[in-house]
Amino acid sequence: MVLLPSPLQKAVLSHRLNRFAVLAEVNGQSVTAHLPNSGRLRELLQPGNLVFLAPKTGPRKTPFDMVLVEAEGRLVSCDAHLPPAVLAEAIRQGQAPPFAKYETVRREVTFGESRLDLLLTEHRGRCFIEAKSVTLVENDVALFPDAPTERGRRHLGSRHQDHLDAFLRQPAELLRQELLSIHGIGKETADDILLYAAGYPFFVVDAYTRRIFERLGITPQGLTYQDWQDLLHGALPREAPLFNEYHALQVAHGKATCRKTPLCEGCCLLDICPAGQTRAGGRREQGSTPP
Ligand code: SF4
Repeated sequence: MVLLPSPLQKAVLSHRLNRFAVLAEVNGQSVTAHLPNSGRLRELLQPGNLVFLAPKTGPRKTPFDMVLVEAEGRLVSCDAHLPPAVLAEAIRQGQAPPFAKYETVRREVTFGESRLDLLLTEHRGRCFIEAKSVTLVENDVALFPDAPTERGRRHLGSRHQDHLDAFLRQPAELLRQELLSIHGIGKETADDILLYAAGYPFFVVDAYTRRIFERLGITPQGLTYQDWQDLLHGALPREAPLFNEYHALQVAHGKATCRKTPLCEGCCLLDICPAGQTRAGGRREQGSTPP
């Protein structure tokens, strides 16, 4: 069971003051409350909505924390820290079927230099989870991202009559050209959309990819994004599921092991990595030098 703060005080929302504060009315008096969620929340934070406040928990100026808001007859949490706790409890109680096989649930685990919300384990493997709250719900399905950009919305509306499927089902090269024509979308973002949203086999070359391959001594002739992508497209079977998994593994390796300051001792690539061997060798030599 996940306990909400108490006692809860009913109030009527006046408006949002800034990212982290709202003004509400309690028994005819205006009060301020901390809003523990920096999201847009436009659908929820409508003036006149019923909200539930709890006495403040930290040394804040606002006397209350906002906990729940009523929207379309439902109570919705506005605390961005709550989803991991709710999901962990649901998994422990067997209420989350996709995760039923996992035996243990840990919260706030370290992964490389990051902290992740949940770690589930079972005898054959582990599953890391980041749990997020969303405010866009259609037919009982939570949709993410829940804050589409105005520019993206305008583009989709004017060119594709708001049909995302029609937009994504274009031939791959046409879609890439169209994405690159949108101000603010570069090659890496375009390829993210091509691979992950449209399912086209375009390798996403990011900083992790470059760093790992440079340390392995594998670099293209030129150093542009396209040079890197051509190198990878030439070396790997052109398959979206493979690119998807390969990119995800590189991100994981770049975060956990091949960091800016790499952890070469014990790295699974050390045997084939000149940079890693130099670092590891140098460290061993340093260690063997008498003081
Ligand atoms: S051996 Fe070191 S430099 Fe090479 S890939 Fe591994 S962590 Fe990166």
